[in-house]
Amino acid sequence: MPLPDFIQPRDGLATLIDGKRAAGALDAAVAAQAAALSSRIGRKPCLAVVLVGDDPASHVYVRNKVRRTEAAGLISQEFRRPADMAEADLITLVESLNADPDVDGILVQMPLPGHMDARRVVETIDPAKDVDGLTAVSAGRLVLGSHGLRPCTPSGCVWLAKKALGDISGLHVVVIGRSILVGKPAALLFLEQNCTVTIAHSRTRDLADVCRTADILVAAAGRAGMVEADWIKPGACVLDVGINRTDAGLVGDVAFEASEKIAGHITPVPGGIGPMTIAVLLANTLKAAATRAGEKILDPLAG
Ligand code: NDP
Repeated sequence: MPLPDFIQPRDGLATLIDGKRAAGALDAAVAAQAAALSSRIGRKPCLAVVLVGDDPASHVYVRNKVRRTEAAGLISQEFRRPADMAEADLITLVESLNADPDVDGILVQMPLPGHMDARRVVETIDPAKDVDGLTAVSAGRLVLGSHGLRPCTPSGCVWLAKKALGDISGLHVVVIGRSILVGKPAALLFLEQNCTVTIAHSRTRDLADVCRTADILVAAAGRAGMVEADWIKPGACVLDVGINRTDAGLVGDVAFEASEKIAGHITPVPGGIGPMTIAVLLANTLKAAATRAGEKILDPLAG
C-alpha cells in the first residue's frame, strides 16, 4: 500500500511524520463524515469552546480551534469570559451547555484563572460531551477499555504511530511524562494497541537507558531538547509532544537535528503532534454527535 503523503521518507534521515498534513487528512475525513451525519440528523455537529481570561497562547489555540471546526463543516460556539469571572458562574455556563441539545462537545480551555478549581469545572462536563476526554468518567472508561471519548493529544500520537509503522502490537513504547493530559492516557492508549509500555517521569532512574529500549518514544515532559540523539534506539519512532517557547522559537522535547540522523521516524515541532490535537478534537465532536443521536459513523480515527 502506498504511504500517505504525510509519511515522508528521506535519504539518510528519519522518515518525517508531517503532523500538519496528517491533521489535514483527518480533518477531511471528519468533514466527509460530518456532512453525511448532518444530512441524517438535520443539524451539524456542534463544539462549544469556553475561554476564560486573557492568556495570549489560549486565545491563539481557541482561534485555531474555531477556524478548523468551521472549515470541517461543524458548528463552533465560542464563549469568552473575563478572568475575574466567578467559578460558580463558569459551572452554571457549563451546565447550560450540558443541557443544550444542539451542543455535542464542550471544551473548557486550560489554564483557568488561579482562583478556580480546574478539576471541579472539568467534572461538571457531561461525559457524553467531554470531547477533551478529561473527566473522571472518560479516564475510567479508558482504563476499563470501554466505549468513551479519549484525550486528544495522546490519541493523535497513537494514530500517527499506526500510520507510520502499521502494526504496532508488541512494540515497546516509552512515554516520558505522566500527566493526566498527555502521559498517562498515552500509556493506556498504547497499551490498548497491545504495546508493551513503560512510563518514565522526573524520578525515573537512568532515563537515557530506559529511552534507549523504546521502539516508540513519546516525549511529553515539557523540557526543551531534553531527549538527546544518543537516548534513541537506532530506527525508533520518535513522537515529540513537547511545546517549549525559547529564544530560538518553538521547540520540542527532542534535540531534533541530531535525532533525525538516528531515529527511523520523527515528528517535528512545530508541525508534528500539535496540529493533530485539534484534528482529534473534531473527530471526538463528530463521534459525540453520532453517539448522542444514536447514529453509526465510520470513525475517522479507526482507519
Ligand atoms: P506536565 O508539566 O503536566 O507534565 C510533565 C511530565 O513530564 C510530568 O509527569 C513530569 O514528571 C515529567 N517530567 C518533567 N521533567 C522531566 C525530566 N527532566 N525527566 C523526566 N520526566 C520529566 O505537562 P503536560 O503533560 O501537560 O505537557 C507536556 C508537554 O507537552 C508540554 O511541553 C506541553 O506544552 C506539551 N503539550 C502539547 C500538546 C500538543 O498539542 N502538542 C498538548 C498538551 C501538552 P513528574 O510527574 O515526576 O513531575
